[in-house]
Amino acid sequence: GRVLVTGANGYIAVWIVKSLLDAGFAVRGTVRAESKATYLRKLFQSFGDKFDVVVVPDMTKEDAFAEHVKDVDAIAHTASPFHMNAVDPDEIIGPAVAGTLSVLKAAHVHGAAVQRVVVLSSTAALFRTTTEPVVLDESAWNEQAIAEVKEKGRDAPAVAKYRASKTLAERAAWDWYEEKKKTGAVGWDLVTLNPPFVYGPILHECARPEELNQSMRDWYHMIVEGKIDNETLVNGGAMYVDVRDIAQAHTLALLKPDAGDNRFIISAGPYKWQEFATAAHKFSEKLPAGVSSFDPSKATHLLQYDNSKGIKILGLKYRSIDEVTKDSLEDFKTRGWI
Ligand code: NDP
Repeated sequence: GRVLVTGANGYIAVWIVKSLLDAGFAVRGTVRAESKATYLRKLFQSFGDKFDVVVVPDMTKEDAFAEHVKDVDAIAHTASPFHMNAVDPDEIIGPAVAGTLSVLKAAHVHGAAVQRVVVLSSTAALFRTTTEPVVLDESAWNEQAIAEVKEKGRDAPAVAKYRASKTLAERAAWDWYEEKKKTGAVGWDLVTLNPPFVYGPILHECARPEELNQSMRDWYHMIVEGKIDNETLVNGGAMYVDVRDIAQAHTLALLKPDAGDNRFIISAGPYKWQEFATAAHKFSEKLPAGVSSFDPSKATHLLQYDNSKGIKILGLKYRSIDEVTKDSLEDFKTRGWI
């Protein structure tokens, strides 16, 4: 079958394209400009006509995807703004929601062969801040971020605007899909994948560390450049997943019939930054050791995610902090960034 991957030049998306091609799928990637297609065509040259790229300048436009979904069997939608620069919340919420709905509508109206649509959401869509230990599963929604943006508008923190964009986009997808399903008129099913922070080696076009995507830029600053204080090293952290594992989750979500109509948390587990620092120093002695007395078994993680559904239904296995770190550092060394 052929899979349409939106935003195919992104950090995660390039790994998704690779995973799908390696699994035998044909892939059509969308990018916003022709200049972003050249690198991809070269990268996946060996797959011949199993890989093609189309330019969709504005995914929110009516019928933006119409011509590109006619001969595809599935869609993986990843294109969505991920940055901390939005002033007006709608700068980020607008394209996230409209892009997602545009993809679903195209599948519905023009995608006669489409069997499944996978939307790359985020744990941002189910996250909440907490002062008590809590384990969130796929029933959770980030009402906090929506409320904060509604209340504070432009003055809301950038991260709240991003989280609200992911929550509202994913909710729009489920609402639209459930509504259409009631009328019995959808020829495909929906899957959403919710990863936390995604780290790991890069495969997309990126000339300099400053141009890295949001999550790997943070990782590079803290772990390679050591721009992190001791307090953040031992107490700061979140949940992570290796970029190759979230890519593989997309392929598995298409291969497993039971995956349909599900939301999946795709998280390897919690971390404190010191765990990445410890691993980095082990693999590359010139990198900062941080607080070497830190004992990860004594760390507390108030917020955790239950990843059991994805392990059970998708059969996904997760890479460790050591694997993420070792392979990222090797990649950066090859690029001369370390
Ligand atoms: P990148 O910034 O590398 O990729 C983002 C992709 O989305 C690019 O292809 C970009 O195109 C496209 N895009 C951004 N804004 C728009 C827009 N307004 N219209 C059309 N396309 C747009 O980031 P990631 O690979 O990390 O992110 C991909 C997805 O994964 C996003 O949906 C993000 O929310 C999600 N995610 C990422 C996590 C992470 O830690 N990295 C964690 C959880 C979820 P262009 O290059 O032209 O700007």
